[in-house]
Amino acid sequence: MAAVPTLSYSSARTYQECPLRWKFLYVDHLTEAPRGYFTFGRTIHSVLEELVRPLIVPASRRTESGESQRTLDHYASTRAPVGGVPSSSEEEVLEAYRRAWSSEGYTSREEEERYRALGAEILLGYYRLLRERPPTPVAVEQHLEATWDGIPIHGYIDRIDRTPNGGLEVLDYKTSREISSDEALSSDQLSLYQVLVEKNYPDPVEGLTLYHLRSLTPLRSPPRARDSLNTLYNRLGDVCDGIRSEAYEPTPGRQCRRCEFQSRCPEFRVVPAGDREYLAGLVDRFAHLRRQEAKLAGELERTAAELHRAAERAGVHRVPGNHAVAIRRREEEWRYPLEQVEGLAQMSKGGGLPPLDRPEEVRRFIRNPAIDPELRRRVADSGRRQVRWYWELEEPDTAG
Ligand code: SF4
Repeated sequence: MAAVPTLSYSSARTYQECPLRWKFLYVDHLTEAPRGYFTFGRTIHSVLEELVRPLIVPASRRTESGESQRTLDHYASTRAPVGGVPSSSEEEVLEAYRRAWSSEGYTSREEEERYRALGAEILLGYYRLLRERPPTPVAVEQHLEATWDGIPIHGYIDRIDRTPNGGLEVLDYKTSREISSDEALSSDQLSLYQVLVEKNYPDPVEGLTLYHLRSLTPLRSPPRARDSLNTLYNRLGDVCDGIRSEAYEPTPGRQCRRCEFQSRCPEFRVVPAGDREYLAGLVDRFAHLRRQEAKLAGELERTAAELHRAAERAGVHRVPGNHAVAIRRREEEWRYPLEQVEGLAQMSKGGGLPPLDRPEEVRRFIRNPAIDPELRRRVADSGRRQVRWYWELEEPDTAG
C-alpha cells in the first residue's frame, strides 16, 4: 500500500481524470513542457499578490488543536473592515508587471505580445478598481493545509477577504476567457477552499467567489451546504483509496489531447518492432477464434432448440447419441409484479414488512404462516411461472 500524499484540488482532479497521468506527475515526477497560458496565469497572480498584500488586515487563525487564537487586532478587523488604499501608481503596477514577466512557454513572439497586452489591461483595470473600492483582505496567496476527517488536503488560496459581517469570503482568480456563474456554484476547487478556510480560521465562510479577471467580475456563490461537501469528501476518499492501492490504470478521454505522456502510455504506445510479428500472429488467431466462437454459439443454440422439439414430440428426456447421452433438464422461476406485490403487502401491514424487492423475498413471504393467509394467496396469485429447458451431456465414460 502506498502512502497518500496531501491532496490539492488539481492533483485530485488529475487522478480522477486519469490515474496513470497522476502517477507520471506525482510518483515518477515527470515534468511537462511549460505552457504560455500557465506562465501568464502565474505572472498575473504574482503581480496581484504584490498589489493586494499591503492591504492585508490581521485575522486570527485556529491553533493546531482547532481552537482559535483571537487578538485585539482581530476584533478590530472583524468590526470595522476598512482595509487600506493601494499607495502605488499605475506606472509602478506596470513596472511590477515588467519585473514579473517570464517568456516561458509561449509558442511565438506574437502570442507572447498578445498575452502581455492582455495582462497590462487586466492589471490596470484591477488596480483602478482596487483604488475605487479597496477590499479588506486577511490573506493573499495563502497556503493552507488541513486534515479533513482523515484526508490530508492543501491549497493556495488567491485571496481571503473580511466581509462586512465579520465573516470571510474566499476568492479564486481566473484568467480564462470565459466562466459562468454556474461554475462558481459548482466549483469543487472553491468547495475544497471553503473546507481549508473553515479548518484554519475561526470565522465563518460567508461567500465563495470566482473572480473573472478579464472582465473584472466577481462571480459570487454562497458557501456550500454540508451535503455538497460530503459528496466532495466521498470523491476525495475514492482518490485516496485508489492511490493507496496503487491503482494507476490509464483512463483515455478528452484529457489525452493535452497529455504529454502519450509515448509512455499503453493506450497510445506503438508495439515495439521486436514484438510486432509475434503479437500480430496472436491477434489474428484470437480474432479467428472469436469468429468461430460466435458461429458455434449460434449453431449450438439452433441444435439445442431442434433437439428440444424432437424430444418433446417423442416424449423423452434422455436421448442416447452414438458418442454421448443428452439429458433434458428443466429450470423454473416465479416472477412477480414486484411493485404491485410490495404495495399490496405494505398496505395491508401498515408498512411494517421488509421490502419485497426480489422474487425470493416474495416466496418467503408467501410461505410465512405468521402473515394473513388471504393476503399471502393474493400475492401468490399475482405470480407467473417461467420454465426454461436446457440440455446436459453424459460423456461416454459416465453414460450408462
Ligand atoms: S494519454 Fe490519456 S490515458 Fe494515457 S496517461 Fe495521458 S491522459 Fe492518461
